[in-house]
Amino acid sequence: MKQSFYDLNYADLEMLLQQNTLNHSAASVLFNWHYKKKENTPCTDKIAKGSLVFFQDNIDFSLPEIDTVQESTKDRTVKFLFKLKDHYKVETVLIPFHNKYSICLSSQVGCAMNCSFCFTGKQGLKRNLTTSEIVGQFLQAWRWLATNRSGEERILNIVFMGQGEPLHNFDAVKKACEIFLSQHGTSIGVQKITISTAGYIPGLARWSQEIPGVNLALSLHSIVDPEIRTIV
Ligand code: SF4
Repeated sequence: MKQSFYDLNYADLEMLLQQNTLNHSAASVLFNWHYKKKENTPCTDKIAKGSLVFFQDNIDFSLPEIDTVQESTKDRTVKFLFKLKDHYKVETVLIPFHNKYSICLSSQVGCAMNCSFCFTGKQGLKRNLTTSEIVGQFLQAWRWLATNRSGEERILNIVFMGQGEPLHNFDAVKKACEIFLSQHGTSIGVQKITISTAGYIPGLARWSQEIPGVNLALSLHSIVDPEIRTIV
């Protein structure tokens, strides 16, 4: 099975290239292409032929599929339902402010925390999302804006407040943050990323050690309406 490009942070990608005796400069070209320019076609520019063949044979550049989109006529909020490769579905929300957006990302299919007020919690945890499925929500939402609200494709804030307890899927969420923060790619400021948690203690301990610059919010509710926070 091919490795998803979007599961690799910049250091991972450099290491992969090094391990396969390929020029490490391709890492910066690819991050620029897929994260800064947000292209979803294969990058052929400034990549050596040997690297191109390696990527074609070993790396998957596909993103989660948008299943449905709901646009609010009242406040222009956009809710996406993404269909994952195993047919589970997760939600992502774009929240507008002055022609810019915050994005609310899901981190798990279902949730193990079982908060009494939350429909997702009642379903139990189905599985963690991969880093590529988290980063993919952002990239696909950005691409949707570029197509449907051209000129407004500015997602300035990221909040992990969708389905799931992000600190319960720490490794994947941490790597997604590293990708969002990378100056080779989206280069989002650390203060623009917020992890919303129900207070999962082992994850809190890791957050304070491993990604302390990322904001933390103690959440007693979710931005996603309970009646539509279903696991399909
Ligand atoms: S509110 Fe958040 S942490 Fe609590 S059960 Fe729902 S998704 Fe999980």
